[in-house]
Amino acid sequence: MKSSAGSPFEMGSEMSAAAPHVLLVEDEQKTRESVAEGLQLEDWGVATAVSGDEAVAALDRSTFDLLILDWMLPGRDGMAVLQHVRARGNHIPVLLLTARRSLDDRVAGLDGGADDYLPKPFAFAELLARSRALLRRPVLSSGPALACGDLQLDTRTRIAQRAGADITLTPREVDILEYLMRYQGQNVTREMLEREVWKQTRRFTSLDNVIDVQMMRLRRKIDSEGSAPLIHTVRGIGYRLGPGPA
Ligand code: CA
Repeated sequence: MKSSAGSPFEMGSEMSAAAPHVLLVEDEQKTRESVAEGLQLEDWGVATAVSGDEAVAALDRSTFDLLILDWMLPGRDGMAVLQHVRARGNHIPVLLLTARRSLDDRVAGLDGGADDYLPKPFAFAELLARSRALLRRPVLSSGPALACGDLQLDTRTRIAQRAGADITLTPREVDILEYLMRYQGQNVTREMLEREVWKQTRRFTSLDNVIDVQMMRLRRKIDSEGSAPLIHTVRGIGYRLGPGPA
């Protein structure tokens, strides 16, 4: 998997100001390579996957701003990947690519949680335009008010609330929470937190211990006794914010 050249996310800036980080899932080599090349020419960060299982693995390792997903894939197909993504409470915009043209299939795709649908064959310019439209859409990943279940964070006032009650957080804890909430339902590694929240590039030593301690404190405040846990530890990977089990 190729990682993005630029940071997909910058604290305190609009999402549109940063280069989007896209996961492109397409088993057909020619289409995959030409679309990836086209997006890279737009300075977008592009990771690619050739099967549903590879897509799920990539989603486990990194966060993305957009998922371009072919429907017909070997093994786990696009709809199965989509179900997996949505079941985790991941609201990433999804553009579904498919040669299926019938209205029923289109409706099934949108019902399955896709945000848009692009029939094959398509012109790259149309894929780009639709992708841009999805990235501009005011989803959970943009705007000052972030929410996950009964947890809310106003990124302007930097006040967090759970079930209507204010939670006292340190500035660092707010930064971490904002990142987790923008990418809710997606696995966030310690390395991502180090890069995006601490603004440090990993060299010889990592901040893993510091991050784990910070996460423990944040978790105590967010997931207090009696409330359904929202911050989950993902073994061997990092953390994920969202309802449901880890
Ligand atoms: Ca295919």
